[in-house]
Amino acid sequence: MTIRHHPADETLTAYAAGNLDLGRSIVVASHLERCAVCRGFVRGVEKIAGVMLEDMSPAPMSQDALAHTLARIEREPVLRNEAPAAPSWDDADMPACLKPYEMGRWRWVGPGVEMRPILLPEDKVRVFLLKATPGTRLPQHTHEGSELTSILVGSFHHEGGDFFAGDFEDADGDVEHRPIVGKERTCICLVALEGQLKLSGFIGALLNPFVRL
Ligand SMILES: [Zn+2]
Repeated sequence: MTIRHHPADETLTAYAAGNLDLGRSIVVASHLERCAVCRGFVRGVEKIAGVMLEDMSPAPMSQDALAHTLARIEREPVLRNEAPAAPSWDDADMPACLKPYEMGRWRWVGPGVEMRPILLPEDKVRVFLLKATPGTRLPQHTHEGSELTSILVGSFHHEGGDFFAGDFEDADGDVEHRPIVGKERTCICLVALEGQLKLSGFIGALLNPFVRL
């Protein structure tokens, strides 16, 4: 598999530093499972961060620091580790990073397009699988915030290039595009979407009442 499109360096750096929210981290992780180049980049950032930590002179601790820390741990609810039991999972194309999370049902969102939400303990960024039948023209749209797309199966293309399984699209609100799904097979993507999609153009105006992404 030749991967041509990768997350932006800033996205990977934020991931490596633990500064990405859970939703976007999952979508980046699904790309890392397939992309040795980006895994190498992330390891490099983690190494640099480790060296910087080692170089910092230790701050003096107060005598009751341990007691304070333990008290905090007891107070803070553990959210991320309380993910629901793994769902029954039978699709070999799905990334391993999704396995701990429960999913909603597939639902129709427009002609030829279905989505399946990933149910996360935080909802700052919505994460969902998007499935589109071969040849589907998705509505022209921009975003209110960032839109990270990890292509799991199939392909699509738009003004920004051709995207195949393993590729990653790192789009922000300035990008306006109109993806067309490849004719060879159904396309399934994992998407992290910040804010709402803003549909534009004639088709967008028609679909606006239906698309609830
Ligand atoms: Zn990559």
